Amino acid sequence: MKIYIAYTGGTIGMVASDQGLTPDAVFAQKLATQLAGIKDLAHEFAIHAYPELIDSSNATVQDWQTIGQDIYDRWQDFDAFIVLHGTDTMAYTSAALSLMFENSAKPIVITGSQVPMYQARSDAMNNVLGAISACEFVAQGVFLFFAGRLIEGDCAHKSHTSDWQAFSSPNRAERGVLGIDWRWREGQMTELPSEIQIPDMQSGAVTILPVFPGIQASHWQGLLNEQVKGAVLLSYGAGNAPDKDLELLSILRQANARGVVIVNVSQCGAGSVAAGAYAAGSALVEAGVISGQAMTYEAVFAKLHFLLGLGWNAEQIKVAFAA
Ligand code: ASP
Repeated sequence: MKIYIAYTGGTIGMVASDQGLTPDAVFAQKLATQLAGIKDLAHEFAIHAYPELIDSSNATVQDWQTIGQDIYDRWQDFDAFIVLHGTDTMAYTSAALSLMFENSAKPIVITGSQVPMYQARSDAMNNVLGAISACEFVAQGVFLFFAGRLIEGDCAHKSHTSDWQAFSSPNRAERGVLGIDWRWREGQMTELPSEIQIPDMQSGAVTILPVFPGIQASHWQGLLNEQVKGAVLLSYGAGNAPDKDLELLSILRQANARGVVIVNVSQCGAGSVAAGAYAAGSALVEAGVISGQAMTYEAVFAKLHFLLGLGWNAEQIKVAFAA
């Protein structure tokens, strides 16, 4: 197989500096040498480090576009694509890539590590080799591979700061689990044609609205500024927020009326929004908030950006979330 590996930054290729860990400019070369030394890896690798390597906590939607465009530009030349990325925002990027490469006819696997490649007890090489193995076995789709788990690209959530198992797939079984061999989930191939779309997304067009005890309208006012066209509402439990604060609901109603799509996602981290199960949730529905169902907040955030970037209007976006 011809496998393209993009190093975008992140812990996996970082080295120590006076300010803490920072991306290593020669990491791509080092990784190429290391992979060349593994004799039973019968693949042709092209490893490319981005000119500006970032800690993924600096990532913006423009970085998602850069990665998407990079893969698209090399689409005909490679059989599989691996993106090395920081873990902090990897789940957002993998969700965005799964939208850009819907039903991807080639495997695209994003991975990184908890400990840099060239430190003792690093998980980096295991993750890179697992991602390569996933490309050998999975003919199509976008995935996040981490610590033996192959997760659908739009289902991943960073759920641990320091465990090797930093990512979970709270609402869908993993596609595969890698031990000595792979264990696969059944029924995974799609017959649907792949659709590649890399929209022009605008940083700041989507916001996240937190709900917490004592939340006040003024907390949300600044977040729902004129630039914002989409919002992820991080509600309690099965989709609830205070329904006794009329000012709070009025802010949502006004934003909805001016075309902001507000999507309800539970801050529980797992499970689905059951909009309207409680009066406190019904008030949100009446204010125009739609349900993100069992999607992660990362996936909802990426989907809002993606659909807004395609130029869809609020009604079209609401229909897409209801599907
Ligand atoms: N801050 C790092 C990043 O997201 C963390 C990591 O890679 O694990 O780039």
